Amino acid sequence: MFDYLIVGAGFAGSVLAERLASVQNKKVLLIDRRAHIGGNAYDCHNEHGILIHRYGPHIFHTNSAEIFNYLSRFTEWRQYQHRVRAMVDGRLLPIPINLDTVNELYGLHLTPDGMKEYLASIAEKCEHVRTSEDVVVGSVGRDLYEKFFRGYTRKQWGLDPSELDAQVTARVPVRFNRDDRYFTDTYQAMPARGFTHMFENMLDHPNIKILLNADYREVRDEVSFDQLIFTGPIDEYFDYTFGRLPYRCLEFKHETHHRPVFQPAPVVNYPNEYAYTRVTEFKYLTGQDHPLTSVVYEFPKSEGDPYYPIPRADNAALYKRYQALAANTPGVHFVGRLGTYRYYNMDQVVGQALTVFSRLAQTTRAEALASA
Ligand SMILES: Cc1cc2nc3c(=O)[nH]c(=O)nc-3n(C[C@H](O)[C@H](O)[C@H](O)COP(=O)(O)OP(=O)(O)OC[C@H]3O[C@@H](n4cnc5c(N)ncnc54)[C@H](O)[C@@H]3O)c2cc1C
Repeated sequence: MFDYLIVGAGFAGSVLAERLASVQNKKVLLIDRRAHIGGNAYDCHNEHGILIHRYGPHIFHTNSAEIFNYLSRFTEWRQYQHRVRAMVDGRLLPIPINLDTVNELYGLHLTPDGMKEYLASIAEKCEHVRTSEDVVVGSVGRDLYEKFFRGYTRKQWGLDPSELDAQVTARVPVRFNRDDRYFTDTYQAMPARGFTHMFENMLDHPNIKILLNADYREVRDEVSFDQLIFTGPIDEYFDYTFGRLPYRCLEFKHETHHRPVFQPAPVVNYPNEYAYTRVTEFKYLTGQDHPLTSVVYEFPKSEGDPYYPIPRADNAALYKRYQALAANTPGVHFVGRLGTYRYYNMDQVVGQALTVFSRLAQTTRAEALASA
């Protein structure tokens, strides 16, 4: 008999398994239908010995000391500042848009104040900001919107920015200086020996049993457990009772090249050309020294494994119906990107899992007091 069955060995499931086992001495069975732990953050060495991220580039960044310190128990870090270039009009320009982006694109020599004035002059303010298009056109004007955002968003989400919630593009800031880092968080680092190694350390506990290649449906009647933590898609758990929650899917094309460097930046975005959105060269991320180099192309799709919850008001409303069902399902806890249908980064999922753990621990304490 297990105290907990945890479905999904990504960040959400692994953090909860680790906390429940090591702090509360609970017996945990952690399952995943994939052949490995780590969820989408899984990395591995390919046939040439190059460390790659199978499900696309994962860069760790957070402003939370608590989350960074928690993960630091399981890994050493390699300091890493991520940088992205976008291929626009035949040039590789910094993204997020900064002073260099605007000066190089338009052949200008603006100062930071000059850039503010310039953007203010081309921005098209709209009274009620509802969509991604409103956000971007309202801050950088229509030409930069068309060149950097519109095509990328259409590929990424299969929707025009005018059909997407404002929050989606609120993630891309504009800088009035030459800072070309993609993130500005306090902590930006990669696990020194990779994410999978970090997960292995996290799950190395006698109370945690791991079962891979195992779907929840195959296992649920075969094992006995007290509580269930489900980090897969919440609509799938409820047999799509209210219909399917839409997810954006991805296809990854990995390639190895017989030369040490493939492209001049860790990630190159292709907003306008090609069916793929971006190309990532892993050695920049991992710091690995190797005579060959590996890259991944990302092709957004509407069918396949669920990767991104699609942030639209009607989807949020549908999720709320599932959430209400979840609230009336005792003994089952939904966590993670798919379990709570939220566009969460890794650190946010860790934070969410730590919060769920505190709640579970409180309940256990309250029950112990009541029965004493
Ligand atoms: C292409 C891409 C790039 C990203 N880049 C970044 C980044 O740079 N930085 C960042 O912070 N975040 C990034 N993220 C987000 C990051 O991947 C997530 O925040 C994180 O992996 C979520 O962890 P999770 O445990 O919620 O879900 P997942 O990692 O998806 O884990 C869920 C696991 O549950 C398993 N599962 C689902 N259903 C079942 C079932 N019925 N039975 C058994 N197992 C099941 C799945 O196989 C999966 O392994 C990226 C995401 C993607 C898709």
